[in-house]
Amino acid sequence: MINQFVPKRAIFEQQALEYPLGQELYERFKEMNIPIQFTGSHNRVTGIPGKNHQEAFGEAKRTLVVGIRKSKDFSGCKPSAHYQLPLTTSCPSMCEYCYLATTLGKKPYLRVYVNIDDILKQADRYIQERAPEITWFEGAATSDPIPTEYLTGLLYKTIEFFGAQSLGRFRFVTKHDKVDSLLTAVHNGHTRFRFSVNAANIIEKYEHATPSMAERVIAAGKVARAGYPLGFIIAPIFYYDNWEQDYHSLLGALDDQLPQAARDDLTFELISHRFTKRAKSNILDLFPATTLPLEEGERKYKYGQFGYGKYIYGDQEMNQMKNYMKTEVDKFFPRAKVEYFV
Ligand code: SF4
Repeated sequence: MINQFVPKRAIFEQQALEYPLGQELYERFKEMNIPIQFTGSHNRVTGIPGKNHQEAFGEAKRTLVVGIRKSKDFSGCKPSAHYQLPLTTSCPSMCEYCYLATTLGKKPYLRVYVNIDDILKQADRYIQERAPEITWFEGAATSDPIPTEYLTGLLYKTIEFFGAQSLGRFRFVTKHDKVDSLLTAVHNGHTRFRFSVNAANIIEKYEHATPSMAERVIAAGKVARAGYPLGFIIAPIFYYDNWEQDYHSLLGALDDQLPQAARDDLTFELISHRFTKRAKSNILDLFPATTLPLEEGERKYKYGQFGYGKYIYGDQEMNQMKNYMKTEVDKFFPRAKVEYFV
């Protein structure tokens, strides 16, 4: 079991104190004896200690910046949603293959945005613009939003906002299991709650400071019983000796926990392991002793947009993984939808 995330230091934008949530966090951190500093902008935070890159990264992951989201425009989030909903950024965990290590680059510290009412107002404007079409928002494009939820309640408020929308829908994904506070939110089936899961030994080896497979599966069971539409991202899927057995156990564990009622509206997204040159160099920089399979020679190169090609498994392994995973999902959850395998 991992402990609740408690920041080692909090850094506030002065303006964040003008919002009730900013004030509340300030008072709470003072009571918790968490050192507090101020910054001019959540985008320009300096002074996080660390003698080398690895140490600085670890310290940043324990630093929480409380700011306001100034830009009114939301980024797009194709193909999974129409827009990213900016609530939080980064996450305290240390998964070796975290996509944020590449996208957040030198700013891996956590951020929460306290002007939630402005953010939801903007979401409402986007929903009106696209009416009568449904508009989807993704809440985990640049973060895992669960670890800071117990401090901010941002997800709870967002879930209830979308619960009251006839044309707005929300989705997010987490590798975490502290979901209890969200079980009573009035969601009206408008939020798809997704868990990112993997074979137990993969989580243990590579997803540092995250809940185990069993803990995530139990959390998913609770969320299912709270009536949320549920989804699973199984990623990254690895090909190694006995991989079939490990992924079979994962699906079996889900089968044990999920009530029948949750299985009619259940989605799976299946993603095989891949890496870019840039991701590999980041991983080797932060985790020099990594045992991740990162040999370009053992992979097939897939050209990507803007020159960012990826190293994916070869055709034979890919086909084997695709067939096995789809068949297994179908066996355990015949009414579920496999959104894609890549
Ligand atoms: S839990 Fe998700 S966001 Fe956090 S480090 Fe792991 S992959 Fe990255």
